[in-house]
Amino acid sequence: MEKPRVRIAGTHYLVELDGQDHYVSFRRCSCGRACQAVRLVAEYLANGGRPAPAGIPLPTLTVPKQCPLCGAEVKADHWLDGRKGCGWRCTQDPSHYWYVRLEPMRRWLQANRWSRKAVEQKAA
Ligand SMILES: [Zn+2]
Ligand SMILES: [Zn+2]
Repeated sequence: MEKPRVRIAGTHYLVELDGQDHYVSFRRCSCGRACQAVRLVAEYLANGGRPAPAGIPLPTLTVPKQCPLCGAEVKADHWLDGRKGCGWRCTQDPSHYWYVRLEPMRRWLQANRWSRKAVEQKAA
């Protein structure tokens, strides 16, 4: 039997085992079991395999002068502070913060889609 290949999918490693996709990250597998995929990833890295990116790259948080979506006043919101900076809240619609904040993540996920097809296209 051919040895299963380890590929990078987003921030995870994708291993196909027994016709099933296993997404491995930090020595844990998406299937929830102590499965072979984790060992295969460790082996792959030991053999000089390219490591997966550690996290989704997000821009630093800053409090804008006005809401980038609707132009309304924004207020710093320290409840939303993250490791990357300071959160803020749109006085018109608090969901605008999340939209602006998550948009880069959404685009990133789209570009690094977890589907096997996209991974294969990238590898080709
Ligand atoms: Zn697994
Ligand atoms: Zn707004």
